[in-house]
Amino acid sequence: MTNKFIPYGKQHIDDDDIEAVVEVLKSDYLTTGPKIKEFEEKFADYVDAKYAVAVSNGTAALHAACFAAEIEEGDEVITTPLTFAASANCILYQSGTPVFADVDPKTYNIDPKEIEKKITDKTKAIIPVHFTGQPCDMDKIHKIAKKHDLMVIEDAAHALGATYKGQKIGRLSDMSIFSFHPVKHITTGEGGMVTTNSEELYRRLLQFRTHGIIKDEDYYENKSHGDWYHEQQFLGYNYRMTDIQAALGISQLKKSDKFLERRREIAQIYNEKLKDVEWLRLPYQKNNRESSWHLYVVQIDENKLGKSRKGVFDYLREQNLGVQVHYIPVYYHPYYQKLGYQKGICPVAEGIYEKITSIPIYPKMKDKDIKSVVYRLNYIND
Ligand SMILES: *Cc1c(COP(=O)(O)O)cnc(C)c1O
Repeated sequence: MTNKFIPYGKQHIDDDDIEAVVEVLKSDYLTTGPKIKEFEEKFADYVDAKYAVAVSNGTAALHAACFAAEIEEGDEVITTPLTFAASANCILYQSGTPVFADVDPKTYNIDPKEIEKKITDKTKAIIPVHFTGQPCDMDKIHKIAKKHDLMVIEDAAHALGATYKGQKIGRLSDMSIFSFHPVKHITTGEGGMVTTNSEELYRRLLQFRTHGIIKDEDYYENKSHGDWYHEQQFLGYNYRMTDIQAALGISQLKKSDKFLERRREIAQIYNEKLKDVEWLRLPYQKNNRESSWHLYVVQIDENKLGKSRKGVFDYLREQNLGVQVHYIPVYYHPYYQKLGYQKGICPVAEGIYEKITSIPIYPKMKDKDIKSVVYRLNYIND
């Protein structure tokens, strides 16, 4: 067995990606040029949404979505604790209050029954996260949202190309957000996208991305002074993506289906070759949805193996396998503890956290690397 380091995820960049970037570098526009619009249109097409707004990263996409949803002080927003901190931080950026609802013990996705328990008069929105790329129970979530008049913002950072009842993730809710960090499905170095079918939300997102400034006579609050005129109508940010990144995004998006196919192939191999490892619990997949397999998360039965999760993790790292744990429950972080969140809010998620480890999965992964992961897990006690 070779001992080259195999990370849990990484980008796949080809020569044509590099050429696309170089072409922009030689052009007139490095930012806010034609590539942004092209990337947004192609991305919206890809996920079957009406509109897409490119931003500087996935976290900015979440922030923009929370702004567009008019989250403000006193508002509660329900999300999962089993996610990257950004899914909850974006609520705090808007001075809202994150409320954590527990997850389903099988899929690790937010449990609609738990969402209902957390709804109060102050609840304004739900941010479901498609953990590892397996879509959440969207019909149930939409039903709850409709009943209580809530916005739904899908954190689809793991779910580019995933489908729910035959429909692409990115078109189902008020807004969906994506990330183009190098470990995600396609990359722009740093980058993010918000998709929506609402023209009103689309306009707010665009304006938020550039300081709250608008240059469109039809929407001015005051009278135009002349051709130079524009208005800042609220406090936005500079969350723009560069054309350099957008060109990379366009080039990567062309390969998205190919990347997805390879991720699914690797997941199939793991499903097959690890199914007899009795101390491992493999990812549970629900019917009517297709995961995009951002992560492959296994649960370790410490009793059956006679080794702790940490023991397994450390051993695999020693073998140069870049395992990782996704995620530490958000409210375990000292910052959230200082805000007053107590351990014990979401016992299912906390229990899952104790047992899980993500094993490598990414399109560029070689067959021999997959074999090496499979081998280590099958012969861990030898
Ligand atoms: C990656 C990720 C984000 C944030 O994306 P960035 O582009 O890194 O800001 C948000 N939510 C989830 C679930 C993620 O995995």
